[in-house]
Amino acid sequence: MSIRVSALTKVYGGQKAVDGISFSADKGVLGFLGPNGAGKSTTMKILTGFIPQTSGTAEVCGFDVAKQSLEVRRHIGYLPENNPLYLDMYVKESLGFIAGIHKIASPQKRIDEVIEQTGLRVERHKKIGQLSKGYRQRVGLAQAILHNPDVLILDEPTTGLDPNQLIGIRQLITELGKSKTIILSTHIMQEVEAVCNKVIIINKGKIVADDNLQALKQKNGTSSLEDVFIKLTNENFYS
Ligand code: ADP
Repeated sequence: MSIRVSALTKVYGGQKAVDGISFSADKGVLGFLGPNGAGKSTTMKILTGFIPQTSGTAEVCGFDVAKQSLEVRRHIGYLPENNPLYLDMYVKESLGFIAGIHKIASPQKRIDEVIEQTGLRVERHKKIGQLSKGYRQRVGLAQAILHNPDVLILDEPTTGLDPNQLIGIRQLITELGKSKTIILSTHIMQEVEAVCNKVIIINKGKIVADDNLQALKQKNGTSSLEDVFIKLTNENFYS
């Protein structure tokens, strides 16, 4: 398994944001769903070594996120929510900067490969600040995959994109999921249907579903993922 999480808990002040969750993931795209405030970003930040957990364990490619953070960073790519980018940098320059951080051998060759892979060729000489939101997301993805990690963590990568941009980024995620383990958080159920093999639903810091799409719908007696989501996460739902 590329990701193994066991009894993971995060307490902020007095509040349990993540409450003893356990799951594992392997190659493919895992949809990570839940209402706002459910604990998705917190879990993703722990997996990528951005913040420490309060208790429990998490492993990425066999490396403990708390004890082996350098190895974990080598094996993981992260596109955070809001995709923070240096708007004054040129696309190629920003990728060169990231290549330097990862000490990538033959950086120009790898940068050119990733520019092709993420469809950034036409825009490669522009400043990031001059790009559309769709292309900025491509730059974020390019930065996340530059060191060719086995695991990718994508926190709402398609929020705010127009339908054409959505299709492009989804195709890219699907393609990447053929060789990598991807955790994708999103509020767009159509997107989950389009790209995810498996789904985890988290509510108030706890996992309330962990299954493949078909089984999840069958168990909840509906063909709509949106209905499953509402049933499992909305206490005002009676039917
Ligand atoms: P999600 O990504 O599912 O929207 P988060 O992981 O961002 O959820 O947040 C889970 C809970 O933890 C929320 O109640 C949020 O307010 C709280 N939280 C997140 N980050 C912090 C922080 N740095 N300090 C205090 N509380 C936080």
